[in-house]
Amino acid sequence: MSDAVVHRIAAIPADGVGVEVVAAGRAVLDALAADSGGRFSFDWAEFPWGCGYYDKTGLMMDEDGLEALRDFDAIYFGAVGWPSVPDHVSLWGLRLRICQNFDQWANVRPVRFHPGVTSPLRKADDAPLDWIVVRENSEGEYAGLGGRNLSGRGPGNEVALQTSLFTETGCERIMRFAFDLARTRQVSKVSSVTKSNAQQHGMVLWDEVFERVAADYPDVATESVLVDAMSAKFVLQPEDLSVVVASNLHADILSDLGSALAGSLGLAASANLNPDRRFPSMFEPVHGSAPDIAGEGLANPIGAIGSAALMLDHLGHPAEADRVRRAIDATTGAGVLTPDVSGRARTDEVVASIIDNL
Ligand code: ATP
Ligand code: MG
Repeated sequence: MSDAVVHRIAAIPADGVGVEVVAAGRAVLDALAADSGGRFSFDWAEFPWGCGYYDKTGLMMDEDGLEALRDFDAIYFGAVGWPSVPDHVSLWGLRLRICQNFDQWANVRPVRFHPGVTSPLRKADDAPLDWIVVRENSEGEYAGLGGRNLSGRGPGNEVALQTSLFTETGCERIMRFAFDLARTRQVSKVSSVTKSNAQQHGMVLWDEVFERVAADYPDVATESVLVDAMSAKFVLQPEDLSVVVASNLHADILSDLGSALAGSLGLAASANLNPDRRFPSMFEPVHGSAPDIAGEGLANPIGAIGSAALMLDHLGHPAEADRVRRAIDATTGAGVLTPDVSGRARTDEVVASIIDNL
């Protein structure tokens, strides 16, 4: 059809179960496109990068890899890491290289409770909860600033400094992003996370910027919560959360807590966004390469398929994204579950069920 939109997507399955779950997500997206009445389709290019590539070439990705990726509409990523390659080499050589160079400063990690999945918090038949952790993805505690051997006084006296970087621009853009996101949700509320009682520079700036930005969104409810109290709140009052905005480190920890509370790391989706849209954004499950179950057809594909739904949102298909999320919930609700969530289904059975439920 002449007015069909073709989305050009770079697929990077990379390592371990990444290969299985990217194939799963692609199958769901292609099924959706086939059913779109010719409105849209996906043009996939697959890149063989990752630890296997490193073992052969000494490179995690091609030297000109970023150039190759630059013009795609989005990147669909699996998981990086394998015992044969040190973690910092594999992570920085591929995933973080893409995140940094494509200025993916907003990391969106929805925490979704699925029907039929028992969470450590709740019974399987309780009303499902969902909230979204928005992680500042470009500075903060992971800015890489500091150094070692700073005492100048020899062995036994080493001093190391690990410095956080908070810029007003960096804080403001992630907060505006969080507020804009809150406006799209049923409960328009942003919870800001800090540790400003104990860290008197960066976190206080964070609080000040939050207050200033909040004033531009009088229709959105707000709260400011210390990270320790927020950890408790995740467990004790999760129904009180809608959008949680936090620094790189705090959101990293909280979003892992969230995915564990939802029942399994294998269920958690994420998006690394360049909201300015100068560069492609990257969509990936939160979990790693899971070497212990790789290649056995048992990986939970829902985190990757949920990430595909986030990619649909980003590509301008929010209704289709919801369709995917509803199909996921219908599948879990019917008890079609992989072993990590106490089921007996294999990856391809879960995928087939989700496609059926579309
Ligand atoms: P990374 O260091 O890359 O964050 P990790 O080593 O901390 O990753 P994973 O590779 O995600 O962790 O594995 C942690 C545990 O979760 C493993 O026992 C693994 O089998 C399990 N796991 C991870 N992803 C999945 C999945 N999609 N389906 C089922 N189990 C999974
Ligand atoms: Mg790992």
